[in-house]
Amino acid sequence: MGCKRILVTGGAGFLGSHLCERLVKKGNDVICLDNYFTGRKKNIEHLMDCHNFELLRHDITIPVFLEVDQIYNLACPASPVHYQYNAVKTIKTSVMGAINVLGLAKRVRARVLQASTSEIYGDPHVHPQTESYWGNVNPIGIRSCYDEGKRVAETLFFDYHRQNNVDIRVMRIFNTYGPRMHPNDGRVVSNFIVQALKGVDITIYGDGLQTRSFCYVDDNIEGMIRLMNKDDFLGPVNIGNPGEFTIKELAEKIILLTNSKSKLIFNPLPSDDPKQRKPDISLANEMLGWIPTVALEDGLKKTIEYFKNNLD
Ligand code: NAD
Ligand code: UDP
Repeated sequence: MGCKRILVTGGAGFLGSHLCERLVKKGNDVICLDNYFTGRKKNIEHLMDCHNFELLRHDITIPVFLEVDQIYNLACPASPVHYQYNAVKTIKTSVMGAINVLGLAKRVRARVLQASTSEIYGDPHVHPQTESYWGNVNPIGIRSCYDEGKRVAETLFFDYHRQNNVDIRVMRIFNTYGPRMHPNDGRVVSNFIVQALKGVDITIYGDGLQTRSFCYVDDNIEGMIRLMNKDDFLGPVNIGNPGEFTIKELAEKIILLTNSKSKLIFNPLPSDDPKQRKPDISLANEMLGWIPTVALEDGLKKTIEYFKNNLD
């Protein structure tokens, strides 16, 4: 794999910053584009002095022209709290963002990867979720701005491919966690760790029996880079860790690992919250030779260490 000019949209966010770091270390010329809605300069501060790293403050709903070989499209708030804060903007970011990166890819003949999501499957009736499942998504609920926005983005990717031969990759990311999540991100792993470290109540939504499967960030980034650089395979492909846990189990694990005195409290479950989620990763294994390598407990320990020094 020779060195390339690479654009990462959403590069100052949680996943984007880890991706930029990996790509810069490999010697690529990396442009990180971000509007800092949920991302932070702090996440990529350590890359600022690298000659092969550039930062561009820009909103992906507005077209951009850059000469690049590859585009990773990660720009979009990912936490329910943040994507519901301005639902209309979330849809614009997914849909207009996809149109803008696809238009750019078409013009400069770049390969473009979409960070799609397990939310494509909604509250799934098929378990574990395979890529061939079309999903069960509410089109008018509070999660729809994100879910439907991401579904339209996938449609646009495949239409630009069929119509204009754009070289696309589509990755369906399942819940991923790790260092550099924002302490106020609102997603479950960061919420529980921050609450446990502060010794305040751990907020379980609903009865805590809903399940998720948690993937450590390094495994996710490895899958993403493999997909981008695999020829003749567009996806969509699931990238996630098939270890499935209830939210209550997650809370108990985090209390144990932090040695915390926090108590569990039960709050109302937000509407349309999926009851179960677990990826079938046989396609990723077969096509990319990829499987996750970090067990939940080990990933949580690393994330807890990070939050001990980064509680704001
Ligand atoms: P994040 O919120 O930390 O990162 C998103 C980044 O996009 C932030 O830096 C934010 O400022 C930026 N952004 C948002 N709107 C923008 C806009 N209009 N223009 C430019 N930049 C904008 O979230 P993350 O977890 O790093 O997620 C990255 C991508 O992966 C997202 O597209 C998300 O939907 C997808 N994804 C993540 C997960 C996960 O578990 N982490 C799961 C499924 C999908
Ligand atoms: N959740 C919770 N307490 C929190 C945050 C989230 O119980 O403080 C639950 C949430 O209702 C959902 C699961 O944890 O069932 C995962 O939520 P998250 O927002 O991390 O991601 P998503 O629902 O998009 O998978």
